[in-house]
Amino acid sequence: MNAMADRPRRLESYVGGVWTRGAKDGVVLLDAATGAPVALIDSTGIDFAAALAYGREKSGPALRRMSFHQRAAMLKALAQALMERKDEFYALSTATGATRTDSWIDIEGGIGTLFSYASKGRRELPNSRVLVDGEVEALSRDGTFSARHILTPLEGVAVHINAFNFPCWGMLEKLAPTLLAGMPAIVKPASQTAYLTELMVRRMVETGFLPEGAVQLVCGSTGDLLDHVDGQDVVTFTGSAVTGRKLKTHPAIVENSVRFTMEADSLNAAVLGLDAGPGTEEFELFVKEVAREMTAKAGQKCTAIRRVIAPRAHCDALIAALGERLGKVALGNPGDESVKMGPLASLGQREEVRARIRDLAADAELVVGDPSRPLVVSGDPEAGAFLNPVLLYCDRPGAARAVHDVEAFGPVSTVMPYDTADEAVELVKRGKGSLVTSVFTNDSRIAEELVLGVAPFHGRVMIGNRLSAKSSTGHGSPLPGLVHGGPGRAGGGEELGGMRGVKHYMQRTAVQGAPALLSAVTGRWVEGAGARTDGEHPFRKSLAELRIGDQLVTATRTVTLADIEHFANFTGDTFYAHMDEEAARANPFFDGRVAHGYLIVSFAAGLFVDPAPGPVLANYGVDNLRFLTPVYPGDTLQVRLTCKEINPRINAEHGEVRWDCRVTNQTGATVAEYDVLTMVAKTRG
Ligand code: NDP
Repeated sequence: MNAMADRPRRLESYVGGVWTRGAKDGVVLLDAATGAPVALIDSTGIDFAAALAYGREKSGPALRRMSFHQRAAMLKALAQALMERKDEFYALSTATGATRTDSWIDIEGGIGTLFSYASKGRRELPNSRVLVDGEVEALSRDGTFSARHILTPLEGVAVHINAFNFPCWGMLEKLAPTLLAGMPAIVKPASQTAYLTELMVRRMVETGFLPEGAVQLVCGSTGDLLDHVDGQDVVTFTGSAVTGRKLKTHPAIVENSVRFTMEADSLNAAVLGLDAGPGTEEFELFVKEVAREMTAKAGQKCTAIRRVIAPRAHCDALIAALGERLGKVALGNPGDESVKMGPLASLGQREEVRARIRDLAADAELVVGDPSRPLVVSGDPEAGAFLNPVLLYCDRPGAARAVHDVEAFGPVSTVMPYDTADEAVELVKRGKGSLVTSVFTNDSRIAEELVLGVAPFHGRVMIGNRLSAKSSTGHGSPLPGLVHGGPGRAGGGEELGGMRGVKHYMQRTAVQGAPALLSAVTGRWVEGAGARTDGEHPFRKSLAELRIGDQLVTATRTVTLADIEHFANFTGDTFYAHMDEEAARANPFFDGRVAHGYLIVSFAAGLFVDPAPGPVLANYGVDNLRFLTPVYPGDTLQVRLTCKEINPRINAEHGEVRWDCRVTNQTGATVAEYDVLTMVAKTRG
């Protein structure tokens, strides 16, 4: 969309496999900096029940037919295609008020989240359609009845209602785990910046990488959409607490127990440690971080620092340092290179922030910035939603309310003093639950006290200090691998967090039954499921030939004292339990000299390996190794190796095979158990 066009373009929604306009002209969306019309938005006439049905009936099954690895590959291809078109997104992003750096967070941060989930999905999930959760639970003495938890994708649609501040990241950070889980989505961007989301969804659909309707888009109101959600759907919401509460208590959501994830207001804090006075590296880092968080996206970040909690003795120096730094922030047209901070998203949003500053002023005095008279280096200070950074100081935060309750969603923070670490923790908690708090200290005792003190009130806590200054990702960046969300006021939701985020779109089910059937249902061999020994060594079988439950029971080997001494001298591991009979006897676990655990593992490999070149390409590790019974000279070892899990890689000539390995002694007692991890060729070649 060209912001300079005479008549703004009418945004379209993508529902039921077609791009469609609302029946009315709709609301005009204005460029945040110039006030020029950018687009018109309206969704009147859309059949939302049909959109949900389309997702459930058409896209859901298509996604669920794909394995986790296929979905991960789809995310990667999508991310690559979007990255190739990023210039187009950057060009349009300026209209939202975002500088180049702000847009980078939104656009490349969002695409980066897709990449990250693609790679995590391939590495951390199996190449199958069911996920097992935890270990097998034995439920009978004779091993004929056990249980295992599985996760399968919900069969509904994930409705994502997003905020105006991150039109790209806000969509992609939710889509990545949703699609990886195997669920389709309907994205509803906030109207104010929906034109950028619309452009990105258009490009996503054009790639053809997504099953039809896996992502639908609603530009404008959601109409009666929520009336039709049911227990297989998920609704996520990011925005104001008022709207969030309203949606959370929507009758269809309450009646059908629809999973509802909410990310709303958050009075995030940053605490300067008692040790981090002026002159210390931590003080400098703290000033930089607070100023950066106040000005990035003009403070319109759900993770921005709203409350700056500092030792009373250092508050004057802190305000002076912040004042100096914030005073240099060039406010103006986001497209200008010299500009460091752009406008807020809309004039309405500026009025909203000014009103919230007035609320804060009930408790605090203004010490930096004037919200009523914007000073800009470019642009029209009245036509654009410009607002310089505003810093307040609240001298008695323990007795204050507004500073802990009011979120001014702009470049606004309040400094508040504390005297003891306990007091700092209490002040942080007054936020009643936040997305993130950061603690700046170089004292491990202070770090422990503050972090453990505030953790129950947060989804994420960042420790800033000199040791991580260069590598730190910062206070305000939610990361794909880390939990994003917070309890209480922050909405009580949880997003991202790597595979934790994927599981929000899946149902966890405890499946009970005979091990053989559990094995068939989950695609993972479990103890007691029975096994196949057809005479051929399983290492001779290609991935195509190998089956879950293929088993090898090896010949035996007796361990001698000479073996133990040889191993000790050869490796240098002459720990007394292997070398000194008397000392070993004094050890509460042993009745004399014992074999090294690693000798047992080595002998086991010697017993189960098939030496000739073949489909098994490499052993890349072991998991869950445990030594359970001591092995004494004269004991005889035997190995049972069972194919437990097969994961063919897509776009490769091999895959991973996990083997259950159990080493027993002459009495049948298990001396060691572990999973052997191998790479196996798909064909014998
Ligand atoms: P809103 O809560 O008004 O809107 C958030 C999203 O909900 C938008 O997509 C909006 O769509 C949608 N929405 C609003 N009403 C309904 C409804 N009845 N049914 C379905 N969807 C609905 O928040 P804003 O974006 O206007 O921001 C207002 C304030 O929220 C900010 O000033 C800030 O304080 C806070 N906020 C907090 C964030 C956080 O993560 N902590 C993020 C963003 C904002 P539409 O735009 O079309 O109305």
